[in-house]
Formats: sequence, C-alpha cells, structure tokens
Amino acid sequence: MKLSSLVRSILLVVTALGPLAASAAPLRVVTTTEDLASLAREVGGDHVAVESIARGYQDPHFVEAKPSFILKLNRAELLIVVGRDLEIGWLPPLIQQSRNPKIQPGAAGYLDASEGARVLDMPTAQVTRAMGDVHPQGNPHYWLDPANGRRIAQAIQRKLAAIRPADASYFAARYADFDQRLAAAEKRWDAAMAPFKGTKVVTYHRSWSNLVDRFGLDVIGFVEPRPGIPPSPAHTFALMQEMKRAGVKVLLVEPYFDLKTPNSIARETGAKVVVLPPSTGGVPQAGSYLALFDHIVGLLSGALAGAR
Ligand SMILES: [Zn+2]
Repeated sequence: MKLSSLVRSILLVVTALGPLAASAAPLRVVTTTEDLASLAREVGGDHVAVESIARGYQDPHFVEAKPSFILKLNRAELLIVVGRDLEIGWLPPLIQQSRNPKIQPGAAGYLDASEGARVLDMPTAQVTRAMGDVHPQGNPHYWLDPANGRRIAQAIQRKLAAIRPADASYFAARYADFDQRLAAAEKRWDAAMAPFKGTKVVTYHRSWSNLVDRFGLDVIGFVEPRPGIPPSPAHTFALMQEMKRAGVKVLLVEPYFDLKTPNSIARETGAKVVVLPPSTGGVPQAGSYLALFDHIVGLLSGALAGAR
C-alpha cells in the first residue's frame, strides 16, 4: 500500500469514528439514591457518569433539598427514581425547578425503577398522606431484595439502550456480567440466611419487607406505629409485651433513627439492637449494591446466630 493511500485510509477511519467519538461523552445520569446509582454504574460502565442526590446514610423519605441538586438535574440526560412516593416530600420541586424537559415525569429521560419491581405492602384500604403514613403506594424500600436489584438493572439497561442505541450491546454485556455476579452472590446470601427461616424480629421502620420476605424472617412489629410516625409510649408498651410473648431477640434499626426508644425496648425485653444500613453508601463497607447485601447478610446472620 502506498503511503498516500494509507494516510487516506487512516483519514477515512478517523472520519468514520468522528460521530462515535462525539457521542462517547458519558451519558449524564442522576439517581435519587445510591442504590440506584450503583446499579446504573454496573450497567452503564464508563459510558455513563452517575451522581446520586441522597446519600446512603440519609433517610430517603426526608432529604433536604439543596440548590446544587437543581444544577445536577438541569444537566442530566436521565433521572432514575425509586418511586412509590419515596421521594414525594423533596423531589418534585427540584425536577420542576431544573427546567430540564428531558427528565420530567413521563419524558424519555425519566425512569421510575419501581415499574418492573415486585412491590410489597400494597395498601388494602385507602391510605392518605394526611394519616402521616409515608408508604401509601406500597413499600418503597423494594431494592432490599436482590431479585428486585436484577429487575431494576434490567430496566436501566433498556432505558440506557433506548437513549444511546449505538451502545446497546455494551449495556447488554454489562448487564449480563452483573446478572452472573449477582446470581453467584445470591447463592451465598441465601445459604448464610437459611438457618434463620421463621425467626421473629422487630424493626424500627418498615424498611425490610422485601428483605425479610426473601430470607424468610418473621417481622412481628415495628417501633413506629405507622411508617413515618414516631413511637408513642402506648405503642412502645404494647410492642414490648408482644416481643416478650414471642421471645423476640433482635431489633433492627436504620442508622438515621434515634436509639433512645430502641435501647429502652432492648433493656426491657432482653432483645439486641442491631443497626443495619438499608442503603448503599450507608456505611463505608457497603460501597456498592452487592457490598450492601454482603454487609447486611453478615451483620444480620451474626446477630441472629448470637441471639440463639
Ligand atoms: Zn419507608
């Protein structure tokens, strides 16, 4: 090949790569929680730049809206939300003020991750926000079953492929790899939790419905009288009687709740308080969606074994 035709070939290749190179800027994704951010990174790899609004150690029902969130949303090409009213107290004004038509609810750059997930605790009677119940659309903590993590990752894969069709096979390969690693980890988690099927526990907030359903634990009560309603003396007294009757030895508390009531319940009933992070990033060891379950299963199986 003559040098001039070689140069022409290289130029042709470079020209052909031009549009690809232009679209290779990472897709800007904003998620409401770090769990969704971790799943988006698993599927999106280096073709996405993902930022979460809430931190994993925060109560996702109550996030303080900051002006910097509006800027993030203004630049986003995709917004992924947990849905089921989890973010209703803080997200809608941020989306509106972002003035970004791409990420408004119903637009192509908006993904409600609950749509393909298995959601528990669907209300049988009408529940209104006026009752103070923060779970009126079913349990929004549904990411706490790894089977739902898979469903969320799949929904993210489809959405990313729709926005960036040229990268569809890349996202599909990333999803397949995540799916395999998740399946291997699920075997490990199911085996570690198998000895504790049917164990009765109490939890502070109703965060763990999907987790206990997955691993066969039995939640007999909650420190909150209703999701989002702080404990009252009468409810706490009745709960302690019930815990003594049922022989409950473990009380799970999310890290953002005051330990005063849980500690006094523990003193009175002999149960052990276990502070368990329900979100990726809740503690440094739970830095990814998979690491979160490693951490939860390790803490929980250890506490349940110790309580026997
Ligand atoms: Zn909740």
